[in-house]
Amino acid sequence: MSIQVRNLSKQFGTFSALRDVSLEVRSGELLALLGPSGSGKTTLLRVIAGLEAADTGQVLFQGEDATDQHVRERQVGFVFQHYALFRNMTIFENVAFGLRVRPRKFRPTEAEIRSRVHELLKLVQLDWLADRYPHQLSGGQRQRIALARALAVEPKVLLLDEPFGALDAKVRKELRSWLRRLHDEMHITSVFVTHDQEEALEVADRVVVMNEGRIEQIGTPDEVYERPASPFVYEFLGKVNLFHGRLHRGRAWIGGIEVDAPEHTQAEELSAVAYVRPHDIHVDRVVNGDGAIAAHVFHILSVGPVVRLELTRDDSEDKELIQVEISKERFRELKLARGEQVFIRPARFDLFPAQIH
Ligand code: ADP
Ligand code: MG
Repeated sequence: MSIQVRNLSKQFGTFSALRDVSLEVRSGELLALLGPSGSGKTTLLRVIAGLEAADTGQVLFQGEDATDQHVRERQVGFVFQHYALFRNMTIFENVAFGLRVRPRKFRPTEAEIRSRVHELLKLVQLDWLADRYPHQLSGGQRQRIALARALAVEPKVLLLDEPFGALDAKVRKELRSWLRRLHDEMHITSVFVTHDQEEALEVADRVVVMNEGRIEQIGTPDEVYERPASPFVYEFLGKVNLFHGRLHRGRAWIGGIEVDAPEHTQAEELSAVAYVRPHDIHVDRVVNGDGAIAAHVFHILSVGPVVRLELTRDDSEDKELIQVEISKERFRELKLARGEQVFIRPARFDLFPAQIH
């Protein structure tokens, strides 16, 4: 089941929660809506579900306009951050609930319900908890049961709103890869809301980055991380260094280095900012060829395969540290120690004309 969202806008009073949002969820894909708190993710999910009406725009399910379809007709399954299970029901009965409340003529037999529920509990690897009550489960187990319950009615679409948001970091990580594996088995069209960039990048087939009710970028995790379309996406999706400079006729000057900027050919000179990921900075002990920015090693974090360096720039009073990541191998080659001088060069970057304040 594919979903098309076309030009959705939604106001709460004078506040715009969604501004002309369009996107497509492909059949069988796991799409993440990623953005800071208040960016409109939940509102968009609720409009897709039919729990909220947009002011303008359309939602299509498999090409058919669902805008006026009731939430029950859309056959969506939900998992929320605090999807309270029924406390007075066993895990088995929680999962069976959606089947038991069906109108009589659509209701499976008791034997069918038993077999379906056990199948689902096996799928979420918690069959052994069938007779327990929710309070006897951990938070992570409860969310897996919430997912089994959502799947019981065989939804065409699964909507997950920060499902792991209330869990601690270690459990979140486990459930992340668990959800990914589960989705690979089931291929149910899913929309997953999160404000956690690592979670989105790790779980999703594609990521929609939202900011203030607008879509900033849609792409695969690689695309949005490696080729961010805007300064917002750069800063939201991981560590980034900003180098201020100038831009003029296809050339840019950043921290005294001249570089090609073929996408920016305008004749007037502009202030510009180069956005550089920590692993896209080349570090050396000497200046070779094309110039470099002089810096000093302020701190070294060498745990793990990647060594993180924090540098101060020699030519700037700026207190902002430059974040650099190099391989352990390169680190050993350089034999760096705290306080020593290095020369750096952005190896890959994107230039954005500076915001005029
Ligand atoms: P997110 O899920 O990305 O955190 P939401 O979609 O929940 O964002 O909310 C977007 C904005 O819309 C927020 O600023 C929120 O306060 C506002 N908002 C959401 N629902 C309502 C509502 N029912 N009434 C008024 N404002 C709302
Ligand atoms: Mg939300």
